Amino acid sequence: MPTFEYAPAPESRAVVDIASSYGLFIGGEFVEATGTKPFKTISPSTEEVLADISEASPGDVDAAVKAARTAYTRVWSRMSGADRGKYLFRIARILQERAREFAVLETLDNGKPIKETRDVDVPLAAAHFFYHAGWADKLAYAGLPGGTDPRPHGVVGQVIPWNFPLLMLAWKVAPALATGNTLVLKPAETTPLTALLFAEVCQQADLPPGVVNIVTGAGATGQAIVDHPGIDKIAFTGSTGVGKMIARAIAGTRKKATLELGGKGANIVFDDAPIDQTVEGVVRGIFFNQGHVCCAGSRLLVQESIAEEFTKRLQRRLGTLRVGDPMDKNTDVGAINSRAQLDRITALVETGRAEGASHWDSGCALPDKGFWFRPTVFSGVAQTHRIAQEEIFGPVLSVLTFRTPGEAVAKANNTPYGLSAGIWTEKGSRILWMADQLKAGVVWANTFNQFDPTSPFGGYKESGYGREGGRHGLEAYVKGEI
Ligand code: NAD
Ligand code: MN
Repeated sequence: MPTFEYAPAPESRAVVDIASSYGLFIGGEFVEATGTKPFKTISPSTEEVLADISEASPGDVDAAVKAARTAYTRVWSRMSGADRGKYLFRIARILQERAREFAVLETLDNGKPIKETRDVDVPLAAAHFFYHAGWADKLAYAGLPGGTDPRPHGVVGQVIPWNFPLLMLAWKVAPALATGNTLVLKPAETTPLTALLFAEVCQQADLPPGVVNIVTGAGATGQAIVDHPGIDKIAFTGSTGVGKMIARAIAGTRKKATLELGGKGANIVFDDAPIDQTVEGVVRGIFFNQGHVCCAGSRLLVQESIAEEFTKRLQRRLGTLRVGDPMDKNTDVGAINSRAQLDRITALVETGRAEGASHWDSGCALPDKGFWFRPTVFSGVAQTHRIAQEEIFGPVLSVLTFRTPGEAVAKANNTPYGLSAGIWTEKGSRILWMADQLKAGVVWANTFNQFDPTSPFGGYKESGYGREGGRHGLEAYVKGEI
């Protein structure tokens, strides 16, 4: 099918000012890392080197934890909630004022379309700070552990992934600060730049030095945070494999943890669903952010009577997705975040073919440089196939069919994960019945991938434990159990 030709609509990168190298943000200042070699962060859509990034050693992590402890005892734990709230409001407003800069920087460093950083990542990050700013002086009324005097843990260690770098930072930093904790955060090694720009925002907001510390590095730096005896609580988002290692590392210690891990979300389509809206929702469910989404609707469960027609319409729609330069305002699907992730996606797609599922891709042209993957659909997928069980974390949809609601529930729940699910039907009673049966932390009805700071988010089973966002998300940042 012919697609429209679009004139190029490039976003300007003049608004960002990327330094050639970055230090670590400790005690309110950028300091040099000790000893270890810097690494490079690149733009995955061009493979251009953007900057040299410091690798924090265990010694650097120790300095960051000490700075956080000092800020906690001397300043932050003594400040009233109303005053903490003022800093959070200030950070939220600065994020809005500098929204364009953050959006462009995120797109350059991560590869995701500017349309998404501009309309989703950055506004939602600001919204998380506004929302938690509002809680800071009302914690006594939130029904938290500790009742009218909920107490923070102290120093929190936070490790985040590369798929929503600034947004995951906001999910971690805003509730920690609102509840009176100080923190040491490590962004992912492929996407450190917006976290480092956020460090500048902390300076601009006059946040007391040491309340937020940002250290860069890879897995070893993350592990140094997890293992540090001065850390009271860990908040981690990333792969289930690393989440399990963290759970093992802190077993038997007094450290608390929340783990937001992988998913294999089912998008369940009944024969009475409005077909065109549903196709849009299924596309949003798996091709948003190149499928690098833990709660992606990566398994489509479609009722057998409409499966053929639905798949045909879906493929027709996927043929019109614009894949390419993420800085172009018309781009729908950007670059895969790294060569390593591209290799993982490619390998899992190979197993799909080898195990006998039927493979289709949009056949679109791809740029010569950078990391790319065509929107891909597998039909005839069996529950035992690896592409039905394992998280691909890329623009790949596996299609399975069902006949009855009971069968849909059984298939949707047949995964080690339990993060998200979607239901598409005209019948309200069926939505409620299904939502009750599905073992997933979030169930969307006639929509997908909607996020809001007031709504708790988190998983069952191997998708992790603890909730982020909403009143429930505050609980993880105060002492004691309800
Ligand atoms: P990862 O879990 O290795 O990385 C996430 C974060 O953890 C990064 O900041 C990383 O530096 C850090 N880390 C790595 N090893 C660590 C350790 N031993 N101790 C402490 N921190 C450590 O994820 P990845 O390798 O970038 O991606 C692999 C797979 O993970 C993806 O294919 C995807 O399935 C999944 N993933 C899930 C999410 C999610 O949001 N749930 C996010 C990213 C990746
Ligand atoms: Mn990068």
